[in-house]
Amino acid sequence: MTFIYEALPMRVVFGPGSLRQLPQEADRLGLHRLLVLSTPGQRALAEHAATLLGDACVGLFTEARMHVPVTVAEAARAAAREAGADGCVAIGGGSTIGLGKAIALTSGLPVITVPTTYAGSEMTTVWGLTENGRKHTGRDRAVLPRSVVYDPELTAGLPVDVSVTSGFNAIAHAVEALYAPDASPIVSLMAEEGVRSLAASLPLIAACSGDAAARTDALRGAWLCGACLGATTMSLHHKLCHILGGTFDLPHASAHTVLLPYVAAFNLPAAPAAEQALRRALATDDVPKHLAHTSADLGAPRSLDELGLRESDFDEIIAQAQAQPYANPRPVTEKALRSLLTQALEGTFA
Ligand code: NAD
Repeated sequence: MTFIYEALPMRVVFGPGSLRQLPQEADRLGLHRLLVLSTPGQRALAEHAATLLGDACVGLFTEARMHVPVTVAEAARAAAREAGADGCVAIGGGSTIGLGKAIALTSGLPVITVPTTYAGSEMTTVWGLTENGRKHTGRDRAVLPRSVVYDPELTAGLPVDVSVTSGFNAIAHAVEALYAPDASPIVSLMAEEGVRSLAASLPLIAACSGDAAARTDALRGAWLCGACLGATTMSLHHKLCHILGGTFDLPHASAHTVLLPYVAAFNLPAAPAAEQALRRALATDDVPKHLAHTSADLGAPRSLDELGLRESDFDEIIAQAQAQPYANPRPVTEKALRSLLTQALEGTFA
């Protein structure tokens, strides 16, 4: 066995009520002029974080939007400049954390993240910006959050449908990390445990949204899956979701949830060790079907058609997917891609 594993410097503060430690985290990093970021829908939470920070908060920017439109990034960068911020607190899901990363990318300002979904962006050096219908992504150490405060209490109000799709978004990171070209035994352990954690907790959350123990397990699983995303190179599934979000504006987590079983069915026959790990984690002999049925049973969308995609969009998706090479356990032909997209469009598994 040979592998290379590069650990990312990461400080995690985990546990119910850990938001209260935000001021100490800022202090520890020597940050005294923080701009707090959120989506419009999470403004109240951003205001609460600002209150906790007291004088160490110099302003709020609550216009974060999915896929980080360049115009929003520019407005947030200007707000940070005008406030004389020495760092940002991104409190919310991947959209808000993505905005913090966009600020860090051009200014180098450190970011503290307080994740409230299971998307996992806080664990990666990946940034994304969307302009003219194209989403551009890259990796840069400058955007890696300096401190991550995981407080499961903040996820208690995450609506069940968002919790489920966000959880499957996290599972998708682990699935692709298991067959990544730079997979390693330590990442595979995190991936398997992350999937196990989320698979066990999501049905409990669907039954009782505020189940504190399940929320804690799910967030721990999301952390592990996010760390997998940060440590490896993603393949076909993430490539397709990136196009579906960036060009067709499909909701990020739902697109991941619908597509994952079909990509798993395509890739797992070429990745036996990954398949074994997923069979153990999900306690099933049929990973793709299990993923499709579980998400559908928990109320997630079942097809790309439901998300608004049309067959006439396939040519553009295939052209973009084939324009740049990316890692994948199986070669991806145009025919295979069209067949996979057709199945996901119709939701043949569910
Ligand atoms: P999101 O951040 O857009 O959140 C979805 C919605 O849920 C928002 O309206 C938000 O305000 C709301 N919300 C979030 N937490 C809540 C809570 N606890 N209670 C109530 N409402 C809450 O969606 P997301 O799926 O977390 O993130 C998607 C974005 O993140 C995409 O742009 C995606 O590309 C990006 N992403 C990036 C990476 C990376 O490594 N760079 C990784 C994963 C996702």
